[in-house]
Amino acid sequence: MQDRYSRQILFRGIGEDGQRKLAAARVALVGCGATGTALASLLARAGAGFLRIIDRDYVEPSNLQRQSLFDEADAAESLPKAIAAARKIATFNSQIKVESKVDDLVPANIEALLEGTQLILDGTDNFETRYLINDYAVDRSLPWIYSAAVGSYGVTLNVIPGQTACLACIFPDSPRGMVETCETSGILNSAVNLVASIAATEALKLVVGGVDAKTLRRTLLSVDLWTNEHAEISAAKPRPGCRACGERDFIHLAGEGRPHITLCGRNSVQIHERQRPIDFNEMDRRLKPHGVVRHNNFILKFWHEPYELTLFPDGRAIIKGTTDTAVARSLYARFVGS
Ligand SMILES: [Zn+2]
Repeated sequence: MQDRYSRQILFRGIGEDGQRKLAAARVALVGCGATGTALASLLARAGAGFLRIIDRDYVEPSNLQRQSLFDEADAAESLPKAIAAARKIATFNSQIKVESKVDDLVPANIEALLEGTQLILDGTDNFETRYLINDYAVDRSLPWIYSAAVGSYGVTLNVIPGQTACLACIFPDSPRGMVETCETSGILNSAVNLVASIAATEALKLVVGGVDAKTLRRTLLSVDLWTNEHAEISAAKPRPGCRACGERDFIHLAGEGRPHITLCGRNSVQIHERQRPIDFNEMDRRLKPHGVVRHNNFILKFWHEPYELTLFPDGRAIIKGTTDTAVARSLYARFVGS
């Protein structure tokens, strides 16, 4: 095995055999923000042979405090995070394969985006997507690892379908009301790295030892780095009657009640249009009389005060400057099409 991994092979939990399993591993990473970049970086350096990075967003200056795979040039270019992450990984490990998917994981594309992977890692920032991943993973008997970090606090759970509790066993409904986000509570980069380190290590155990690995954690673990509090809740067994892993009623996978337009962050709205391929050169010409336009191969940005519209090639858009979905929809209709 290459010199590159010699120190990891020396670790007896990995060894030559474990390193070979890592090289053959196929891992999906949903969301490539703070936790996602930390997970991607650790697994790529550890030699996970194939990473599929799925992210809907682009790099901004406010990401750089904690999103460790991005730099100022990525933010200046507004590069999609999945693309920027793959480029950065290629500079420190060109021997693994990284596939970038600039997309929002939704019921309609989850099969295509996650197929052919053996383990799903959560780098998202919302429960809607996590429930979707949970439904898919339970349905397909694929392990996945929930990770979240807000403020100085991180929480993570391994979900091994058929063995442990799933996300819906522990949180039957999205914990509304008590949910803080990075937009409202801020976040410490150390909390991100902590939770990503724990989750990445569990991922190594899963790849090397399989779902029966003795040292896999079977709890919901939460740690607050500022107050030094930590807690663990047993997740060793599924909850009887769980909607997802008990009754196998996959409401999120079925896409019930998926809105076409969603709030996305503190002051922006996402329009989930995806059947409208956009020609960026043509759109650039069309929008120029109405404001400042800039595009690269991956996204087009249009500033029409006080709004900022970001368009993706499949027609998806993120509109900043409003939380009013009607305003966002009408801007989209006016400038992109209805
Ligand atoms: Zn369950």
